[in-house]
Amino acid sequence: MKTTGFYFTLLLFLSIVSCQTKNLATSASSDGKQVYALVLHGGAGYIKNLPPAVEKAYKEKIEEALEAGYKVLSDGGSAVKAVQKTIEIMEDSPLFNAGKGCVLNSLGKPELDASIMEGKTLNAGAVASVSHIKNPIDAAVLVKDSSRHVLLAGKGAELFCHEKGMALVPESYFIVPRRLKQLKRLQAKEKKHETTSLPPAFDGIKKYGTVGCVALDQKGNIAAGTSTGGLMNKQYGRIGDSPIIGAGTYADNETCGISCTGIGEYFIRTAAAHSVSDIIKFQHLPLLRAQQKVIFKIQDLGGRGGMIGLDRKANVAWFFNTEGMFRAFKKSNGEKQIRFYALAKH
Ligand code: ASP
Repeated sequence: MKTTGFYFTLLLFLSIVSCQTKNLATSASSDGKQVYALVLHGGAGYIKNLPPAVEKAYKEKIEEALEAGYKVLSDGGSAVKAVQKTIEIMEDSPLFNAGKGCVLNSLGKPELDASIMEGKTLNAGAVASVSHIKNPIDAAVLVKDSSRHVLLAGKGAELFCHEKGMALVPESYFIVPRRLKQLKRLQAKEKKHETTSLPPAFDGIKKYGTVGCVALDQKGNIAAGTSTGGLMNKQYGRIGDSPIIGAGTYADNETCGISCTGIGEYFIRTAAAHSVSDIIKFQHLPLLRAQQKVIFKIQDLGGRGGMIGLDRKANVAWFFNTEGMFRAFKKSNGEKQIRFYALAKH
């Protein structure tokens, strides 16, 4: 236990160092022009010393998503559109735990969650436990724009999307052999009671792989979105933080936009994304400090994960208490970073 504690402290220190560098490197434009920016994540977890070919594959896909979302912003498009575009690309890639290649529940089935929020109006949309929607982030946008509701779940969400003209896909679209193998391994491990202090459903999960994006557009509007398959071997019907506005996703032009990844139960219990916004608003702390406060609280409760965010001045920050987090940002002042590990090397 002592060694684990020391290890976490060390990792946190490294994360802090790496984050502050990013935050200090970012600032609003000096010529008075609206700076725009996009930050994304591809999940937190045991991301360490990846084989070069795997690292390359992640780097290429993350760069593609980053550039596509950024192009929406540079063409004058909205933050919502940029977030949607970025997340669609990551959902279509089996590298991430979102859309195709998502993790599977205890029955071996995909159950996907996604949400989006715009900071100007506080309008939001989300879907939970859907299994036939190719791009759950598109469904979240549809709920935001075309329904009276914020969150639709399961068959009702799918029916709504179908009625609005969205094509549905079979469950098999999402299932890839790698995830079936991971599920079997995890279930076998749990049978043998090789558990740690974490609740069994989370034990042995090394990488969370959810995707998220936050953007600030040329009009100064912020949007945030998150999409996930949830946690591997989760109980059928379990819903995580990602589709919960205020937990996994939040955006308010007055403060910031946030997207989270990690063990969702802790992010729900701490209302993580909204807490960051509140800390900025009422304690007047900068984004990174607010993120740290919330992640430390999650850590105190035994949770793991991370978050990305940006504020209305295009200050970008991220923070996590895991070994790594796939993350990247690009800003209209030319700054760009793609990082995987806690150490500054990558
Ligand atoms: N936060 C997600 C959930 O608990 C999982 C993840 O971030 O990968 O559903």
